[in-house]
Amino acid sequence: MSPPQDVSPSLAFARAAYRDIPLYAPLRAPAALDLSDNTNLAGIPPAAERVMREAASQLVTRYPSLWGGGLKAALAGYAGVREEELVTGCGSDDVLDSAVRAFGEPGDVVAYPDPTFPMVPLFARMNGLTPAPVPLLPSGDIDADGLLGTGARILYVCSPNNPTGGLASRAALEKLLTRTRGVVLLDEAYAEYAGESLVASAPARGNLLVVRTLSKAFGLAGLRIGYAAGAQRLVQEVEKSRGPYKVNALAEAMGVAALTGGLPWVQEQVREVVQSRERMVGGLRALGLSPLPSAANFLLFPVPEALAVAARLRELGVGVRAFPALRGVGDSLRLSLGPWRLMEPALAALGKVLR
Ligand SMILES: *Cc1c(COP(=O)(O)O)cnc(C)c1O
Repeated sequence: MSPPQDVSPSLAFARAAYRDIPLYAPLRAPAALDLSDNTNLAGIPPAAERVMREAASQLVTRYPSLWGGGLKAALAGYAGVREEELVTGCGSDDVLDSAVRAFGEPGDVVAYPDPTFPMVPLFARMNGLTPAPVPLLPSGDIDADGLLGTGARILYVCSPNNPTGGLASRAALEKLLTRTRGVVLLDEAYAEYAGESLVASAPARGNLLVVRTLSKAFGLAGLRIGYAAGAQRLVQEVEKSRGPYKVNALAEAMGVAALTGGLPWVQEQVREVVQSRERMVGGLRALGLSPLPSAANFLLFPVPEALAVAARLRELGVGVRAFPALRGVGDSLRLSLGPWRLMEPALAALGKVLR
């Protein structure tokens, strides 16, 4: 079989849909104070650190659990669902990818608000599905009618939304859930900072999968632990598509420790981030900036020439994420929140750069 004329021999072996899928590669230059990826700036729960020090060497010679059973037991208590209503994965990215593959036939539409988490259109294309972005409403809420109007088999909503920080309204989510004939993937990566969640109610609805992670509030991004809750029949399909052994043994043990003994630490850090959020909104406004309302552990604010401003902040040791020409917002910067002692140098650097 000869390769098509217009592609190099190596590309001829790739799936046609892969030829113009970019590699996910956000700018990740090192910074002394890295506020670019919304991970936990306070560290990891001490209970999880103890597992790493004392148990790691016994854990890694054997295969991990097939389906993360120990993790599911701990998550069930935390999320308020039954173990059979949970699926775990190598980060919530893996859970989202597996769900797209489990529920979408090639050619089906995946609808999502724009802007949102950029991995979702990538997972759609990687699995042969068609991405359908639907602009957020001027209020910051999701456009339920617009999303439904795409006829999507899979509807993705991120609440609080990355990168804007706002919540999808309960009314809009209800509309999606009651009117769609597809499945709703609700990404609650930042739910701990929002104080509201649909996770416990997910199993009672036949078409809702609530996807979550231990990468943010739990401080374990490097271990790659994600999960989703939903009706047993839904999560079973995602589990098939995910495959066995996806959560490694050290991750599972540290995840369990974080969800049990580590919980008071996590809750304390969440309280601190929520306090920093209030103060940081004030600090940014004092610099003449207008952060969008956020229910997450980050703030997004419009800034002209965002890429250049981010580069100058990086020279001062502060890493933030720049979003050039974000739909409905324009050039903007996203800054992770953490303990106030880390926010002060960030504000000072911003003041210097914007002066
Ligand atoms: C950070 C983030 C995740 C987490 O991904 P993991 O693979 O669990 O680390 C998921 N969704 C959104 C919207 C995020 O911002």
